Amino acid sequence: MNNVVMNLDAIDVSELIGKKIICPRECGLCCLCQPEILPEERNYFRTKHSRSLVKSNDHFALAMKKGRGSCVFLDNERRCSIYDNRPTYCKQFPIHFHVSDRIKAELDLSCRGAWYNDGISAETEAKELASRSSMRLTSALREATSVYNEFFDLCKEAGVYAERTELRSSVSENLTKFTDLNYIAKVMDSSLEEPCVSLNEITPDAKMNMDELNEAAMEAALGSMQSNDPLNVPVYCDKEWKWNLFMVKKNVIEWSTLDNNGDIFVKGTADPNEISLPSLDADAKSVLQNYISTLNQRDSMMGSAFHTLDSLDYEDDMSNVYYGSLSVAIIDLMWRSSMINTFFKTGTGAESIKKQLSFTIWTVLMRPL
Ligand code: SF4
Ligand code: SF4
Repeated sequence: MNNVVMNLDAIDVSELIGKKIICPRECGLCCLCQPEILPEERNYFRTKHSRSLVKSNDHFALAMKKGRGSCVFLDNERRCSIYDNRPTYCKQFPIHFHVSDRIKAELDLSCRGAWYNDGISAETEAKELASRSSMRLTSALREATSVYNEFFDLCKEAGVYAERTELRSSVSENLTKFTDLNYIAKVMDSSLEEPCVSLNEITPDAKMNMDELNEAAMEAALGSMQSNDPLNVPVYCDKEWKWNLFMVKKNVIEWSTLDNNGDIFVKGTADPNEISLPSLDADAKSVLQNYISTLNQRDSMMGSAFHTLDSLDYEDDMSNVYYGSLSVAIIDLMWRSSMINTFFKTGTGAESIKKQLSFTIWTVLMRPL
């Protein structure tokens, strides 16, 4: 049984159908992460580039320039100097395989190359990557399925279980409402106050107090900028391909640029209390709706809500946690769109929302699944 390899056709690639990916030479954004080196890749790096390997918890990863810049293998032209031997994670990006009790391929929208609708087919690429990693995916699926089954049993025991398909259908039916701040505010309130939220029954108050919603959005967005470690804060690749970092220091947002050598230059500051949620025009709402629709189908979004439910000791209904988590993800994105506008005067229209989606948060270790 343990040697049975999964049927690759069972991998859900629906998110990638019709999407294309390209890698503009100037970008290099994903090389600001620290890719994990798989056991089978260690020998190459140990023998050929021993000083490029670092240990991160239980894993080996590639070193960064000055411990905080891009990967040591990114040259000054932003090309990978070990391209044919780059780690699996790098070969896989911007495709991720999210493993739960099934495997779903997702496209990382922080990749600029995912926005041009040009280049190679993301769906074909995902299928090829999956066939090369079938053993690893099979083993991850086996482990994750047992964790998920245990989680669902705990939810049923606590009386907070909901069917994922029903949660998703309910969001799809109410999709247009999720770009209305009054509606989001009401969903967030209801998910905290009511035992089991039904989206169809939510009617926004005519005069909602937006201060609380702005504060929640600011808190969510600033949470990701609290680290003093440049490796752990959001990066925005601007139209001139500069890498911009944002860190919160003494309640002020500090904007810096990071260059190819790993040097950081402070460029400006902004008071977060002067940034507020934008009102969106019709085009911006349409881009946002597409994004919410993608998020709603993503197992990583659902998995993040499950993680929250677990941390809340199964005291809240799964629907409340899912709708609440989705609402926070939306206002977080909208607030950061306003923040980018504050520094770069990008406006708050459709382009700004798109740019915001290509604003990313790298974590120290990026794993190839
Ligand atoms: S983020 Fe995307 S476009 Fe940029 S270097 Fe990486 S793969 Fe290429
Ligand atoms: S190995 Fe190459 S592709 Fe991977 S992060 Fe380093 S420079 Fe980028």
